[in-house]
Amino acid sequence: MYRIGLIPGDGTGPEITEATLIVLEKAGVKIEWVWLEAGEKVLSAEGTPLPDRVLDSIRELGIALKGPLTTPIGTGFRSVNVALRQALDLYANVRPARTFKGVQSRYEDINLVVVRENTEDLYAGIEHMVGKDAAESIKIITRFGSERICRYAFEFAVRQKRRKVTAVHKANIMKFSDGLFLEVARHVAQDYPQVEFEDRIVDNMCMQLVQKPHLYDVMVCPNLYGDIISDLCAGLVGGLGVAPGANVGQHGAVFEPVHGSAPKYTGQYKVNPSAMILSGVMMLRHLGELEAADRVEKALAEVIAEGKTVTYDLGGSASTMEMARAMAERM
Ligand code: NAD
Repeated sequence: MYRIGLIPGDGTGPEITEATLIVLEKAGVKIEWVWLEAGEKVLSAEGTPLPDRVLDSIRELGIALKGPLTTPIGTGFRSVNVALRQALDLYANVRPARTFKGVQSRYEDINLVVVRENTEDLYAGIEHMVGKDAAESIKIITRFGSERICRYAFEFAVRQKRRKVTAVHKANIMKFSDGLFLEVARHVAQDYPQVEFEDRIVDNMCMQLVQKPHLYDVMVCPNLYGDIISDLCAGLVGGLGVAPGANVGQHGAVFEPVHGSAPKYTGQYKVNPSAMILSGVMMLRHLGELEAADRVEKALAEVIAEGKTVTYDLGGSASTMEMARAMAERM
């Protein structure tokens, strides 16, 4: 029996969470869900959208599945999602992008994974004005940060039987920062002779992904390039409704859809639950429950391919729960 934290989230989050639970229940893996409230609901009562007890619970459990959280506007709170990643030092952001028959996309049979460094680079937030007409942002790349993300990417590739890791950089221009990242990536690659390794300059990587995505497999990127490339990959396979993600650290992992809380649809049971269900699939794989994960993903792929019980974004008129029930029935 696994004990796993569950943050239903804001907006349409609780609806896709409800849908996800009825599908995961059929996976045959015994899970005790520990419900954790964060976001708008607790903000008014507790003065913070991310109470310490939620962080403590995730630290203790080591794993959580999370719906999207709304970033309150005008309250001075920075993104709850970013705060969660920082507080738990979830340094690896993992975003798979695969095509599903029935989801409109430019290519067939794409199966990519972007592993993005989540803590440093230009996102360290160190910036200032230089006088009043210039601004400076500082890009931080460390050997420690580069090593742990590259190692994570190779370990992931081995675990999931992937053939290749591509390091993405701009070391021809940023010889110190991206140069260090590339040097570390090459060094770490030597420990994994069974996985092919190559590197690409980020601009060339973007063009190649658009023209020849089948050439690539796992990509490991510093924070900024990873941010851009992972959205590019989501776009290649048909967008947000089917884009899952994971944030992984040494002491914990939080799985969540890439999309936000889609607040305008709250209460309508209209949005696509697939991204959250696929986040659950990633979670099962993380736990080593590979067979259960495959069964959920297969049922989801079949329902989408059939196209009869899908939500509005995939051209159907099914509700969130109808789509989830169709998946559950196939299992
Ligand atoms: P969003 O992803 O919530 O919605 C953008 C649009 O995408 C929606 O209006 C909808 O048309 C579509 N969409 C999103 N998810 C969908 C789904 N599952 N099925 C069908 N269509 C879907 O982005 P936003 O409107 O920019 O953000 C809303 C809130 O979510 C903000 O407060 C933002 O900060 C937050 N957010 C949270 C996360 C997270 O929790 N990780 C991520 C992104 C945004």
